[in-house]
Parts: sequence; C-alpha cells; structure tokens
Amino acid sequence: MAQQVKVYSTPNCPWCKRTKKFLDENNIPYQGFDVASDSAARDEMVSSSKQLSVPVVDIDGDILVGFDEERLRQKLNLLQEEIKVETNKAPANRCTSGMCGQVDEMKQVLAALRASKYKCAVCGYVYDPDLGDPDSGIKPGTLFDDIPDDWVCPVCGSAKREFDRIEEV
Ligand SMILES: [Zn+2]
Repeated sequence: MAQQVKVYSTPNCPWCKRTKKFLDENNIPYQGFDVASDSAARDEMVSSSKQLSVPVVDIDGDILVGFDEERLRQKLNLLQEEIKVETNKAPANRCTSGMCGQVDEMKQVLAALRASKYKCAVCGYVYDPDLGDPDSGIKPGTLFDDIPDDWVCPVCGSAKREFDRIEEV
C-alpha cells in the first residue's frame, strides 16, 4: 500500500527543504519536482492546488499546501512517537513571495490558466470566458472550470469533458 507522493518545490524555499527532510527522515519515497525550472510541473501544481505557494505535497491526489507536519503525519499514517520541540505553529509554513522567486511568473501562469479559452474537440467551438455562453445561462466572465458539469457544447452538444484548454503564449 505504498502511497504516491509528489513534492513540488523551488530550490531556495526553506519550507520545501523541511518538507523533503521530513519525508527523508521518515523513509517516505517521493517524486520531487522543481517548479522553478520545470514549467510542466508548475502548471500541474498550479492547476491541482489552485494557488502559487510552495511546497505543495500531493499524496495519492490529496493536496497539501505548505509544510504541515501534523497533516503530513496524518496522511502518511506516521505515528507521532516523539514530540519534537518545534514551536513554530504559524500557518505560514510556505513561501508565498520574493523569497522563493518565480512568484510573478507563476501568477501569470495562474491568471492565464484561469482565463483560458477551451475548444470543443468535436466541432471546434471555442468557449471564451469573457463571453460566456448566455444562451445556455452561462454569464460572461464565467471560467470554464466553473461551468456546471451538465453543460454541453452549444454547437454540437458534446459534453464538457470533450473540451481542451487552448494554450496561449
Ligand atoms: Zn462542439
């Protein structure tokens, strides 16, 4: 029952180092991604965690943002045998700005991701969040993610899952 653990981090983020150290100390194997240099991993992290700070830990699809030892122990079924003298209970165990760099770039990625157009793979109709789909009751400004799952392509009637995000660079 080995769990699949992924860690998204940047090289200079102290909480990323702590997170990895914690996993190492507990002999938890994980896949590490450097989101400062690996843009595919960064997109993946932003889209799964819906935010920009690091580290992000993905345990079998459960997303943990920041270094949170208690939740890590819980998710990884690690018994707390010894109470560490660790008094930092601030929730800010993560890098949100400056310190880690990359944040401006990641903000752009997130903004682009959220405002993305989506294209129907069947008929080529493009959903533009700026326009929405008022005929189907989707107000202008509605992000594709926020459209109800029972919405269908207004042109060909294909399901929402037939749509692909259009990459804009
Ligand atoms: Zn269509």
